[in-house]
Amino acid sequence: MDKVNILGVEVSAMTHDQTINTLIDAVDNDKKKFVVTANPEIILHAYENRDYFQELSKADIITADGIGVVKGAKLLGRSIPERVTGFDLFISLLRKADQKGNSIYLLGAKEAVLNKTVTYIEEQYPNIKIVGKHNGYFDWEDPSIAKEIAGKKPDFVFVALGFPRQEKWIGKYIEQFNKGVFIGIGGSFDVLAG
Ligand code: UDP
Repeated sequence: MDKVNILGVEVSAMTHDQTINTLIDAVDNDKKKFVVTANPEIILHAYENRDYFQELSKADIITADGIGVVKGAKLLGRSIPERVTGFDLFISLLRKADQKGNSIYLLGAKEAVLNKTVTYIEEQYPNIKIVGKHNGYFDWEDPSIAKEIAGKKPDFVFVALGFPRQEKWIGKYIEQFNKGVFIGIGGSFDVLAG
């Protein structure tokens, strides 16, 4: 996979479609993937904060979530074909998961937003199996959510805790999971909930 190093962060040069194909392939083969959708704020935060940088270093794919990242690559004389945003990946993955009858877990946002997101997904993507959910306001030291996810083995875990929390949470627990695509998607549940 072609990558562009921007301030130490290895950003994927894959298109949206290539990224989706890679993630679907991972699910089909029971692999594990940690995906970060990096906007300029995330890259700067990693540059200035060593702990956060360490968490990002655990990611398998870091996409360019913002035209600023695509342009940053260009300034370095490198090419990233297009922005690959968390929200767009979320919607494309829901579509694919619906076609294949995959399972998902939703983590993040306020309880009311989360419940509306669940209803929306149930209506729009009826073949998806929602195997669990939890709002984004919980004690990080409590391992029960990670344990629940590890036990249920969802194909996709959508983590909508906002930056930098979602990358830190996935980074903290990723070793405990055997399979699944784990992706931080910011405020995407709020968008779906309307
Ligand atoms: N959020 C959460 N737990 C928190 C803080 C935020 O689940 O401890 C959720 C929030 O409800 C929203 C999403 O994360 O659904 C994005 O929040 P925010 O807009 O504050 O983050 P940013 O856009 O700055 O990444």
